[in-house]
Amino acid sequence: MAIRNIVKMGDPMLNKISRPVEKFDEKLHILLDDMAETMRLADGCGLAAVQIGVLRRICIVDAGDGLVELINPKIIGQSGKQEECEGCLSCPNNWGITSRPMSVIVEAYDRNGNKFRVKGEGLKARAFCHEIDHLDGILFTTKVIRPYVEE
Ligand code: ZN
Repeated sequence: MAIRNIVKMGDPMLNKISRPVEKFDEKLHILLDDMAETMRLADGCGLAAVQIGVLRRICIVDAGDGLVELINPKIIGQSGKQEECEGCLSCPNNWGITSRPMSVIVEAYDRNGNKFRVKGEGLKARAFCHEIDHLDGILFTTKVIRPYVEE
């Protein structure tokens, strides 16, 4: 495994739309392992491939209850609403309150090309929305509804 450099805000890469994954091969597995290691070292709860310079529809989330790898993910259901603080490994020292669904259902493929569905609530729902936005070139900073004030 290897640590990859995280692309930072201001780099036009982050505004690009990622392409679907077509090959579920060894190269993908190495990329996923590197993403997990990079995310853990940076102490994040989510990372999209574009954040390490790979324009493919791949993201990972670990909201504290285990790592979820999402390939070609789609949000197929959502309910409720939450307004909570959000940040991003590509936007250091940048925080803001966003409005996200309280609960989402995501359909995606695992690293071997098997389709699955996963539900996320609270922080996990926010992370799924945030990471999937990255695949469409959208940063959370465009979704901030009010600044985060530290208590
Ligand atoms: Zn992010």
